[in-house]
Amino acid sequence: MSSIVLFGPPGAGKGTQAARITESTGLPQVSTGDMLRAAVKAGTPVGLEAKGFMERGELVPDAVILGLIEERLTHDDAQNGVMFDGFPRTVPQAEALAQITTITHVLAIEVPDERIVERICGRLSCGNCGTVYHDAFNPVPVAGCPCGAFEPKRRADDNESTVNNRLSTYHEQTAPLATWYRDLGIFHAVNGDRDIDAVAEDLLAVLA
Ligand code: AMP
Repeated sequence: MSSIVLFGPPGAGKGTQAARITESTGLPQVSTGDMLRAAVKAGTPVGLEAKGFMERGELVPDAVILGLIEERLTHDDAQNGVMFDGFPRTVPQAEALAQITTITHVLAIEVPDERIVERICGRLSCGNCGTVYHDAFNPVPVAGCPCGAFEPKRRADDNESTVNNRLSTYHEQTAPLATWYRDLGIFHAVNGDRDIDAVAEDLLAVLA
């Protein structure tokens, strides 16, 4: 099994680009953020443990994350590789991942910090189909979400007070992984401060 990693700060557009990559490669998206939000919503023990960390913009403990990943990788759709989104975020997570699967590409979406805050604060998604929108940069079409049942949803942690914490957490604990992956020769950075199609084109070119 060989997999890819989508890497970048919160609000870089990983979720949006993940949908494009899945469409083109068939690799299922494995988003630890999505799995944690589902666990919080369902009130599972993992959700109860993770909730406070997420609300504060801190990382959920590695052991919790690795438990979720190990379980997710047993599913049938993961047997030919997956696209990790928002994982790994720490050195121990990257080390554990290297034991589980081969990573062929780390696709980094680079966006300057000052753009992240405005991106995160206007973000919303469709609760029905999961498509991510932005009030200003990627608004919901006038005719509504193409899924036909638009349910506006905003993340509890998408607010100005949490975003600064999430950004410093990213710089302190996650960004150093870029060096690790660069040394392995599998790190590919793309300028994420452009329109969605241009970023998608560059990411797919790396995988071609
Ligand atoms: P995301 O949707 O990827 O922005 O993740 C939302 C929140 O979930 C993060 O701010 C963390 O609190 C938590 N989280 C998601 N993925 C991880 C991970 N790989 N390691 C630790 N915490 C995570």
